[in-house]
Amino acid sequence: MQSCADWITDNFEDAVNPDTDDLNRAGEKPPDSVYTRMKGVNSLIIHHSATATGSARVFRAFHRAINGWVDIGYHFVIGNGSLSEDGEVEEGRPPWAVGAHARKHNGDTIGICLVGNFSDTYPTEEQMKSLGMLLKSLLSEYDLSSSSIILHRDLSGCKTVCPGKNLTREIIINSISYP
Ligand SMILES: [Zn+2]
Repeated sequence: MQSCADWITDNFEDAVNPDTDDLNRAGEKPPDSVYTRMKGVNSLIIHHSATATGSARVFRAFHRAINGWVDIGYHFVIGNGSLSEDGEVEEGRPPWAVGAHARKHNGDTIGICLVGNFSDTYPTEEQMKSLGMLLKSLLSEYDLSSSSIILHRDLSGCKTVCPGKNLTREIIINSISYP
């Protein structure tokens, strides 16, 4: 298993690396007391990691140790078989906590990140199946319609290509109708 420190060094050459032990410790979940509770959830925002590999553990280490955030920015991470199983859904920040994944939209949204860079590659079939099941369950839990599913790049005021040109709204909506 690749260490958090090694993953950060591999993916972000310019990152100022703090002590390796500190970095690896940052891959662990912080106590619930660090979070702010969301008042409600109105949208589900889809992201890619823009990295070839990843998992909740290494994103958490990066967001905590390098970005200085209280925790991983996303609520869910869907693996691509690199540092977690293909299609594995990992919980990041608790779903009730305000995240850090979409500037000015964090107060009432859930952030879901698929591992991969979909400007260059495509999400795996297992990732899309898991995304579909996760979205279905969240839509039902928060009593939302599919219009509440939003690509990061389609949010007002967000200048980003995330989640990459190959992850389209169409295939996301299709994923919900998998059996
Ligand atoms: Zn994004």
